[in-house]
Amino acid sequence: METAACLLGAGPICDDCLGRAFGRLGHGLTNRHRGDALRTVLAMHGVTGKHGTCWVCNGLFQHVEGWAARAAAAAQGIEFDSYLFGVRLTPRLTQMETVLEERFSTGLSEPLKHAFNREVGKAFEAKLSRGTVDLAHPHLTFVIDLPQDATELRILPVYIYGRYRKLVRGIPQTFWPCRRCRGKGCEACHFTGKQYAESVEELIAAPFLKAAQSSEAHLHGAGREDIDARMLGSGRPFVLEVASPKARSIDLPSLERQVNRTAADKVSVSGLQFVPRETVARIKEADAQKVYRALVAFEREIHPDILAKAVADLIGTIRQRTPKRVAHRRADRVRERRLLETDVTPISWGQAELRLRSEGGLYIKELISGDDGRTDPSLASTLGIPARVIELDVVDVSSDAFPD
Ligand SMILES: [Zn+2]
Ligand SMILES: [Zn+2]
Repeated sequence: METAACLLGAGPICDDCLGRAFGRLGHGLTNRHRGDALRTVLAMHGVTGKHGTCWVCNGLFQHVEGWAARAAAAAQGIEFDSYLFGVRLTPRLTQMETVLEERFSTGLSEPLKHAFNREVGKAFEAKLSRGTVDLAHPHLTFVIDLPQDATELRILPVYIYGRYRKLVRGIPQTFWPCRRCRGKGCEACHFTGKQYAESVEELIAAPFLKAAQSSEAHLHGAGREDIDARMLGSGRPFVLEVASPKARSIDLPSLERQVNRTAADKVSVSGLQFVPRETVARIKEADAQKVYRALVAFEREIHPDILAKAVADLIGTIRQRTPKRVAHRRADRVRERRLLETDVTPISWGQAELRLRSEGGLYIKELISGDDGRTDPSLASTLGIPARVIELDVVDVSSDAFPD
């Protein structure tokens, strides 16, 4: 009661601020109730406060309804189940909080931010009659920016896991900005800003953007195949991140059919499911084994038995210095990766089909050609005959870390 009387004496103070100085006292009370009760009891003892704008919050708690209304307007037309409020204080408010803590310490107070966020949340929920607070993964995050007199709204992306097959060569996995203009648009790219007209990402994302009423989506792959390689078999795991979705209960089986119809002979998807954001890192960091099918051409004809032995001899650890073809964008270093399993089918004079199972990160084209000695051993060095991959397909990508 003594501290409460001091607070009243220090200047005009609102019930919310008076009450939250004792926020940990009593259950089922709002700070406003606490403040009001203290004021009543103090009045009975002849202690009365001054009228005017609260010296601690500068009237912030009177504007709770207004901020909730602004947030509700921003949430118009957006589907959500959960929300969270945050607030950026002005320097003055931060200072007053410190004064309150230091000069009128009760050891029972609730910080201004905490109390304000809760009160705005309650008012917001009451206005829309939906949504609950979620501290971990709220669909909507509002930040009330008091210095800027603005509300910021962030919408939690939707994450969808699945596998894609790329049935044609020449399509990159993700959007590539034009090399010449870096995406701005120029004559070389016909003012599209793109190096390639299509990508797996864009072909898959199109129907999702429409369904989720979003304008941005990113495909996160569990590794990526070369542009000129196909992705066959059961496909490569990916997570599609749809940014700022206005709709989130989207019909995945229907979207799967749409992708498979519209991107028909280029890309197909399967096994779509909603996943948490953490799955992106999980599939990207997964140590996946790959199975490749490589059509290889040799400079001379080779006896099938010699070829079979040379390929089998490659099983084991391969030392690879960063290939010349990717050296401009990857750090130059030597990696060791294991080739686990091989199988050879002679096709014709100087050509054979290889099936190779390896640890993730082994460069297959260089395993065959040797990349001027940068990959060791290689099929070319083992045979003593130049060899190169003329067609490459990834036929399996597997890891225990994948959700399926
Ligand atoms: Zn106040
Ligand atoms: Zn361009």
